[in-house]
Amino acid sequence: MSKILYKSAEEIELIRASAQLVSRTHAEIAKVIGPGVTTIELDRLAETFIRDNGGIPTFLNYGGFPYSLCISLNDQVVHGFPGKYILKEGDLVSVDCGATLNGFVGDSAYTFAIGEVSEEIKKLMRVTKECLDLGVAKAVIGMRTGDIGYAVQEHAEKNGFGVVKELVGHGVGVKLHEKPEVPNYGKRGAGIKLEEGMVIAIEPMINAGRAGVKFWEDGWTVSTIDKKPSAHYEHTVAIGKGKPDILSTFEYVENVLKEKNNN
Ligand code: MG
Ligand code: MG
Repeated sequence: MSKILYKSAEEIELIRASAQLVSRTHAEIAKVIGPGVTTIELDRLAETFIRDNGGIPTFLNYGGFPYSLCISLNDQVVHGFPGKYILKEGDLVSVDCGATLNGFVGDSAYTFAIGEVSEEIKKLMRVTKECLDLGVAKAVIGMRTGDIGYAVQEHAEKNGFGVVKELVGHGVGVKLHEKPEVPNYGKRGAGIKLEEGMVIAIEPMINAGRAGVKFWEDGWTVSTIDKKPSAHYEHTVAIGKGKPDILSTFEYVENVLKEKNNN
C-alpha cells in the first residue's frame, strides 16, 4: 500500500502551475467546442496547447489510455475516448484533462453543454457543480474524506440524482493517482484525516438517474446503467488552514463561455 505523499509549499506552487495549465486548456476547448466539432479535434487541440506551454498531457499513455483527454458524452460518466463523433445541439460533454509540468501533475474536469440542452441536463450540471463546491469547502485541515463525500452525496441525492460510487477522487501532484481515495459519498467524521501538505482531486460524478454504472469492453469507458446523462466537475485542491486552496480554476473556461453567449 502506497503512502500519502505530503507536499511542501514549493511543491504545491508547482502543482498549482500544472493545474492552471489544465484550467487554461479547458478555456481553449471552450473557444471551439460546439455543434459540428468532432471530439478528436478537441483532443488534438488540448495536446498541442499543453505541449506548446511546456507540459505533457498526463493521461496520454497513462495505464495505456490512448488520448490526452477523457471525453465522455451524455450517458458516459468518465474515461470516454475522443473520436469521430460530431457534437450536436443538446449534447452533454464531460472533458477531463491532466497536465504534467516540471514533474508535477494537475487534474481538472469540466462539463460542457452543446447549444441548448434539456432542463434536466441544466439542473444536473448546476447541481454537480454545487456538489463540487460543497465538497471543496470541506478540504481543510482537520476534516476527513468522509466529510467531503457526505457533502457531495447529500446535495446530489437531495436533488434526486445518483452518486457514482465505483470511481472516486484521489490524492494528486507527484503522480496522477495517489493516496488517499476521496469518495463522493460517506459519513461525516469518517475516512482519512485531511492534513497540511495533502493535495487531492475532488471530482463528483453525478447521474441524472440511477447511481449504477457499467464498464465497457474497451477497458475504459464508463456509462450510466439507465442511459440517463451524467456530469463531472473536478478541481485539484490543496488542504488549507480554515479554507481550501483551490489550485485549478473554472474562471478561464467560464469567461470564454460567457463571452460566447454574449455574441
Ligand atoms: Mg480528472
Ligand atoms: Mg481525477
